[in-house]
Amino acid sequence: MQTIDNFNFAGKKAFVRVDFNVPLDENFNITDDTRIRAAMPTLKKILADGGMLIIASHMGRPKKNPDPKYSLKHILAHVSEVLGVDVKFADDCQKAQDIVASLKPGEAVLLENLRFYAEEEGKPRGLADDASDEEKKAAKKAIKESQKEFTKVLASYADCYVNDAFGTAHRAHASTALIADYFDADHKMFGYLMEKEVKAVDKVMNDIKRPFTAIMGGSKVSTKIEIIENLLTKVDNLILAGGMTYTFMKAMGGTVGTSICEEDKLDLALDIMKKAKENGVNLVLAVDTKVGDAFSNDANTKIVPSKEIPDGWEGMDIGPKSEELFANVIKGSKTILWNGPTGVFEFDNFSHGSRAVGEAIVEATKNGAFSLVGGGDSVACVNKFGLASGVSYVSTGGGALLEAIEGKVLPGIAAIKG
Ligand code: AMP
Repeated sequence: MQTIDNFNFAGKKAFVRVDFNVPLDENFNITDDTRIRAAMPTLKKILADGGMLIIASHMGRPKKNPDPKYSLKHILAHVSEVLGVDVKFADDCQKAQDIVASLKPGEAVLLENLRFYAEEEGKPRGLADDASDEEKKAAKKAIKESQKEFTKVLASYADCYVNDAFGTAHRAHASTALIADYFDADHKMFGYLMEKEVKAVDKVMNDIKRPFTAIMGGSKVSTKIEIIENLLTKVDNLILAGGMTYTFMKAMGGTVGTSICEEDKLDLALDIMKKAKENGVNLVLAVDTKVGDAFSNDANTKIVPSKEIPDGWEGMDIGPKSEELFANVIKGSKTILWNGPTGVFEFDNFSHGSRAVGEAIVEATKNGAFSLVGGGDSVACVNKFGLASGVSYVSTGGGALLEAIEGKVLPGIAAIKG
């Protein structure tokens, strides 16, 4: 497989798919430029080699072309500043031939939002709500056809293809996967960010130092079931926390008060417990719970056994005994994966458990464990507690990371790896 380090971009035009889907405020100012900075090592290496950059990204979910709210023009000045060159702008990603042809070594162009075209995602747009199945089928077929043309145009701009957008690696879109077919194996590669992500996922899924502990939190068991099932074949310890705790407690005959509980998933919870036993996995659940009498930071609180939550009270975080229990398991681990808080960490009074888990992970990492944290809220969680620098790797991918952990092959990765 080609690597970015081994490739000399001198005199070459590189189509680089990045994830510049950054949050903007109402005046279109960037409120968090992490994703832009994350792509810089790749972009700078290509320019330093004497290559030419065609930078491509999506932003938001535009529904038409153009959709000024989602224009990448809003971020052009900032990209230029961070990259240190005056980046040109192609205000139509399908009509960039002239501007691309004018590029000289060391120069860069940013293409307008790829998703202005429905062809990027390959999903029909503007279908009437009452469209018949026939009409839907025809529209799908038509967009798949025009998607080929769209992809071909993007590919025609460049001599090589670099994918550095891990955040969209789970999508088989034109610029994230299909375009790779237009380049030889030695002219397509991951960018540095993508390389790091793929390596980190590989380390926790395939190159496991034991004991391996996964901490899965968040709100519901139903949204995490595929990951949990895959992890049951891999881990030594599985700590299940957050809102899903109460589904397990109810399934075991406990009382859960007003805690979130998926009544239709009680059998599933018992099945997970059975499978853990069969696989020799140490399944760890909270033994005590911090309950509140309202879903609010200012609720009255008390600590109760997890199976004995009184009427009118809601489980909103783990209690101190569980913190110690979880921390001991984590500190004895050599590979750690954390996805999802142990409680409603957005409320300071219910964030203690998530912080304790984060701190235990940092300590284990100091002692040589490899730790990967990822998936939406977990990243917000480690950032909130200032723990990001103490873990081995914080993934930028939400959905992409979770699908990788589920054991799925991500189209954006497969397109390069073959
Ligand atoms: P997820 O998106 O499934 O990873 O869930 C993350 C969300 O789960 C966070 O916003 C937490 O506030 C929420 N959460 C965690 N524990 C609980 C709980 N005990 N009750 C309600 N929500 C929770």
